Amino acid sequence: MSQLKYCQGPRCHTYDTKDRKRGPKDNKRNETRRRSSFYYLGGNACSMMCERDWYNTFGALALRHFGMITQPKVLTADNAWSVRRDWNNDNRYAYNYLTEERRPLTQQQYDNDNTITDDGRLAI
Ligand SMILES: [Zn+2]
Repeated sequence: MSQLKYCQGPRCHTYDTKDRKRGPKDNKRNETRRRSSFYYLGGNACSMMCERDWYNTFGALALRHFGMITQPKVLTADNAWSVRRDWNNDNRYAYNYLTEERRPLTQQQYDNDNTITDDGRLAI
């Protein structure tokens, strides 16, 4: 059985729904939702509202923590590669979407997540 975790939305407990209600009749309270899995905020928030609340509260802080970019990121022919498949003839190839160059790939290269780096460079 997977472990239960709490929604990380800072205002989750303020949304008045039946499933958040806890306690006896004379001492009712709403609590943060607790589930084995969530769909939002990378699996940490119960709804888009809670995800948005988290972002509004912590987003700018997280940007400062992990570092703001201070120079523009640049796409050049070196990092404009993607892996594609031609469904007409079933050929696999690396495609450069700036130069429109195509380089044939083997099935093994096509299936390998490291053929194109995370920043779009061709690694073969
Ligand atoms: Zn929530």
